[in-house]
Amino acid sequence: MDVLINLSYLLASAMFIIALKRLQSPRTARSGNALGAVGMLLGIIVTLLHRDVVRYEWILLGIVLGSLIGAVMALWVRMTAMPQMVALLNGFGGAASALVAIAEMERLALHHGIAAAPGVLVGTILSSVVIGAVTFTGSVIAFGKLQELISGRPLILPFHHGWNALQAAAIVVLSVLIVLQQQTWSESLLLQLFGVVTAISALLGILLVLPIGGADMPVVISFLNSLSGLAAASTGFVLHNYLLIIAGTLVGASGFILTNIMCVAMNRSLLNVLFGGFGAEVASGVATDRVVRSTTAEDAAVILGYARSVVIVPGYGMAVAQAQHAVKKLATLLQQRGVDVKFAIHPVAGRMPGHMNVLLAEADVPYDLLYEMERINPEFEHTDVALVVGANDVVNPAARKDPTSPLYGMPILDVDRARTVIVLKRSMNPGFAGVENELFYQPNTYMLFGDARQSLEAISEALKSV
Ligand code: NDP
Repeated sequence: MDVLINLSYLLASAMFIIALKRLQSPRTARSGNALGAVGMLLGIIVTLLHRDVVRYEWILLGIVLGSLIGAVMALWVRMTAMPQMVALLNGFGGAASALVAIAEMERLALHHGIAAAPGVLVGTILSSVVIGAVTFTGSVIAFGKLQELISGRPLILPFHHGWNALQAAAIVVLSVLIVLQQQTWSESLLLQLFGVVTAISALLGILLVLPIGGADMPVVISFLNSLSGLAAASTGFVLHNYLLIIAGTLVGASGFILTNIMCVAMNRSLLNVLFGGFGAEVASGVATDRVVRSTTAEDAAVILGYARSVVIVPGYGMAVAQAQHAVKKLATLLQQRGVDVKFAIHPVAGRMPGHMNVLLAEADVPYDLLYEMERINPEFEHTDVALVVGANDVVNPAARKDPTSPLYGMPILDVDRARTVIVLKRSMNPGFAGVENELFYQPNTYMLFGDARQSLEAISEALKSV
């Protein structure tokens, strides 16, 4: 039986790896997702055959309840609420690891005695409970911020980082003491200290995420996702379960790669995201006496209608306005007039990784019209019109030109190099980074003020008589 179980685990692990590979492109992502789910089902079924399982009632109840909750969440949650859902799922993963670690510690105490257990095992149980608890409470706070149950602004207590450092030190010192003194200290004292380590870890998760601003939550979520993978891998060592070790490590590594991609795309370090309080101050590198050219939907329709090439640049404002369908409609109308239409996608446009891709896919914009930053940037200087739909930071030329700007060095979409730029937004307010945008004052930029969806619908309407 053990050989069958291990072979099936190997097969499931291979399925996870192929699934991850297929998730790299929107074209293959659906089948990748399905393959990963089948691998997970195989893993669950095979684990249930394990000889350590004595009774199935509770397991079945858990499977039925979990599947029901998962199905309801998947059907009901709106695309825009995906980050919150992912935050919750990470939290569940962390909680599961912490609960397994707590149960294993209890089991050691009841059956063999903690003193008799190898130090490595006790150390692994401790790492599982610490990472699991931090992931659980951190993810719950991230969920609360994204769901706007808690303020999205950075909440910083006096000596906040000092408290966090103190808690981290207490966790390390207590864990080392538990492992070193496991043979000499009484079982009840060891269990009490284990409880204290668990409680401090839970508190640390809360205090780590509270000071991070709402818009940085996607980075935090992928970081917590990576931690939940590490917690699962650590639980795999506790349970001697190879599948959990491999799957946990894959989640840990891919979550960390995603975190890194987002940090690079924002030209910020992970430490700056976690401890920097970004987005608090408003820097102004632009003189306010400069001229802003505002335009009307009718004029915008004329400019777009007679263009040969148009690049549409969506940003967070498109998500706020739910303008993806209106954008698709305008793109189709322009294509029918023979205009070459492309979409430029910045890796951190919006507020979650792949935010723009998800919204445009919902509106059935074909994947081959979507261009990543590296591919589209050389094309802007030959583009007639760049149509910016609710994007701001990701098109701010200060990132290229102004060394004093907080955005300096962040890779941006070079829309300022297009012959004409039309920007759809409601006001002159800055974007997430709180920085003014000199693009709006360029002589070739026209601002169309208003809600992006209404503006797009008005342009489409006006285009009919152009
Ligand atoms: P920004 O937040 O820079 O700008 C969005 C703009 O949309 C605002 O200036 C706002 O202007 C406009 N807007 C809001 N609502 C509407 C509406 N209803 N109609 C029209 N316009 C609207 O967004 P970007 O996408 O350009 O940049 C994303 C930012 O988020 C970057 O700084 C990035 O680093 C950060 N970020 C992204 C993450 C990700 O995973 N994608 C993660 C963490 C941070 P106005 O109020 O005048 O309408």
